[in-house]
Amino acid sequence: MAAVVRKRRQLNLHLPLPAAKSSRFSSSPLRLPLPLSLPYNNNNSVYRVSDFDKLQVLGHGNSGTVYKVQHKRTLATYALKVIHGDCDTTVRRQITREVHILSITDSPYVVSCHGIFEKSPGGDISILLEYMDSGTLDNVLKTTGTFSEVSISNIALQVLNGLNYLHKQKIVHRDIKPANLLVNSKMEVKIADFGVSKMMSRTLDSCDSYVGTCAYMSPERFDPDTYGANYNGYAADIWSLGLTLVELFVGHFPLLPPGAKPDWASLMCAICFGDQPTLQDTSASEDFRDFIKCCLQKDSTKRWTVMQLLAHPFVNQRPI
Ligand code: ATP
Ligand code: MG
Repeated sequence: MAAVVRKRRQLNLHLPLPAAKSSRFSSSPLRLPLPLSLPYNNNNSVYRVSDFDKLQVLGHGNSGTVYKVQHKRTLATYALKVIHGDCDTTVRRQITREVHILSITDSPYVVSCHGIFEKSPGGDISILLEYMDSGTLDNVLKTTGTFSEVSISNIALQVLNGLNYLHKQKIVHRDIKPANLLVNSKMEVKIADFGVSKMMSRTLDSCDSYVGTCAYMSPERFDPDTYGANYNGYAADIWSLGLTLVELFVGHFPLLPPGAKPDWASLMCAICFGDQPTLQDTSASEDFRDFIKCCLQKDSTKRWTVMQLLAHPFVNQRPI
């Protein structure tokens, strides 16, 4: 069934987008044709935006608004991300990337997409997503405080499984951070927000490394001149995961003091000129500290891969 749904998604994505002006993005834009009305669901019946009631606003992104919606007949709940048609080229390009990745992924560790709708050519685009009832890990951190080591081990394992799935498909996420990991009340964690993700055509890719959220960028992405122009996107995702897990444990962005506003200069100093970040909190176990050390190797060639980390004792803990 999953394969059938995926095939239907691929078949229906047809909306050519204008080439991006920004040189930070690949010179060969994804010419992903977004759907005109691409409505589908697992029962092969057709969805339309009008089939859903908007229940509440879940959040606002750079590109639009995300609503909690309910299907009028089945009463099933979803998240509907609505991107305004008058958004700029860069945003439209990000949506193209996001839709493309969502249309080819099918994993319990990646947020599912159930449909994509375009009001009219060049009009609002709506993406129907699996509803994650606890929001992002960033929201949870801000509302309920820091996570226990056991929870972080569980989160790390799920995100690694998601990255393993993506990396095997040659997809690098490029923006792993607490605000892009969605969670539900079953403590399932799923990777979301593929606006700056990339399909790698080679193992190493030197172009357009400068996208994503600066604070979570690895040294070789932040300063390619010093750390090597050929960055390994897979290794860069692991760096971001390491910082994310430390943040969930200590409660603030780990490379700066609590409350400090990340500006360019302080990030450059911390990421590129500072010592390798470590988990100094003495309450953290040896396994946790070692896992973080493996993720946050400043030299990307020494950083552990997803497969190596999946075998690390920190994510293979057995109850005593
Ligand atoms: P952008 O992607 O435009 O850079 P963003 O990541 O902040 O920005 P969105 O992906 O549009 O924004 O999401 C905005 C907010 O909506 C998120 O921070 C999250 O709280 C909520 N949200 C997004 N997707 C879902 C979902 N599938 N389930 C539940 N809440 C969601
Ligand atoms: Mg986001």
